[in-house]
Amino acid sequence: MNTVRYPDGNVLLRNLARDFPVISHGQGVYLFDKQGKRYLDGSGGALVVSVGHGNREVADRIHEQLLRVAYVNGTHFTADVTEALASKLCALAPEGLDRAAFLSSGSEVTEAAVKFARQLWVERGEPQRSKVITRMPGYHGNTLYALSMSGRPHYKKFFGPLLSEVVTTPAPYPYRSGLADYARDGAEHYARLLEETIEREGASTIAAFIAEPVIGSSAGASVPPPGYFERVSEICRRHGILTIADEVMCGCGRTGQFFASTQFQFQPDVLVLGKGISGGYVPLSALLVRQSHLEEMRQGSGGFMHAQTYLQAPVMTAAGLAVLDYYERHGLVAHAARVGEYLQRRLREVLLPLPHVGSIQGVGLMAGVEFVEDKASKRPFPRGRKVVEGLLSELFAQGLILWPNTGHADGTNGDLVMIGPPLVITESEVDELVELLARGINRYMERL
Ligand code: PMP
Repeated sequence: MNTVRYPDGNVLLRNLARDFPVISHGQGVYLFDKQGKRYLDGSGGALVVSVGHGNREVADRIHEQLLRVAYVNGTHFTADVTEALASKLCALAPEGLDRAAFLSSGSEVTEAAVKFARQLWVERGEPQRSKVITRMPGYHGNTLYALSMSGRPHYKKFFGPLLSEVVTTPAPYPYRSGLADYARDGAEHYARLLEETIEREGASTIAAFIAEPVIGSSAGASVPPPGYFERVSEICRRHGILTIADEVMCGCGRTGQFFASTQFQFQPDVLVLGKGISGGYVPLSALLVRQSHLEEMRQGSGGFMHAQTYLQAPVMTAAGLAVLDYYERHGLVAHAARVGEYLQRRLREVLLPLPHVGSIQGVGLMAGVEFVEDKASKRPFPRGRKVVEGLLSELFAQGLILWPNTGHADGTNGDLVMIGPPLVITESEVDELVELLARGINRYMERL
């Protein structure tokens, strides 16, 4: 028995009818359950795990910090680890992002980013700039504001009406863009759609535009067409709209550079990180902003009106600093770029010829596979067949864990999986991942 039911437990799990594996421990890219079965953690949860499981260098530093001081209020105190993490991140960040704050989750930090933009417009005497433009598909979190900004219709169905100040524009998704030459025409096509959205809503009502430089699980690692972020940045600048990069999933080396924004020529006004920044060891997210914007607030109302209990908690920032130090000592971003190229090549070589593999996309150690019923017409499977759920169960039985996405790029339901192993993965572990995946797809699709 590798799985256990907790029908009478008090933990609020999403699906009480399901069997849950009981994980005993992890090491590197592997997880082990209580029966000793080994799983390759091919997506590190939802692309969270960066420095691998069982990383003693990181765990020891967190332990040391806990013995020093576990908690102080982040609005009244700072700590050496917090200052060191902020200065390291700002030194790496795209030009101009020179102030950092630390929160505990991706949803909180995307909300904080938009609140920052909205407060700035109020300080500037333009309170009517209250709307945010977000993209479909896209994901920015599950709290009400973050959910309002997320292009995942099926996540929202119980929670409307959500915030009406959110408007959407289409996000690039090459497989279903309908463009004959995505690389050549994509940037212009999506930039024009953004400009139309701005004109329809009225630029003077819009505070900010938020985008994932490489879209996460809502669009299976969709990479922007060349020139996209230069064009949208130019449009936003021209209309006075602040830009926010959500790098909660694609940041921290996942795409082969520390910041995906740098890689895709995006120079946002605000940038947020999560997941990989603490590699799953403790909750941590980061908000990076411009000093000049903070200064405007300081001279207006006094500062950014945002605080939470765990703001800047030293145990969180110690974890972030330990993770960044580990990156530096082990050249992890360069490693992720090198092994990521290998992963992308092997996925395309081995999987694309398989029946029902419609598209493979991604960059670095972030990839997405879309399965379709008919490759020629790109017709999806009927959602009722729950193809991706069945495939993931098959892979799980074979010892490979991947992250599902049952949402389709155009907002309807589809069958996608995300691959995003810990950044410490080696080429031979990539071989194992690709082999397990190909074997699982073949077995499963034959039965289908
Ligand atoms: N933004 C992006 C791009 C994400 O991928 C996620 C999480 N998948 C979030 C925000 C929300 O993060 P969290 O689940 O930590 O609240």
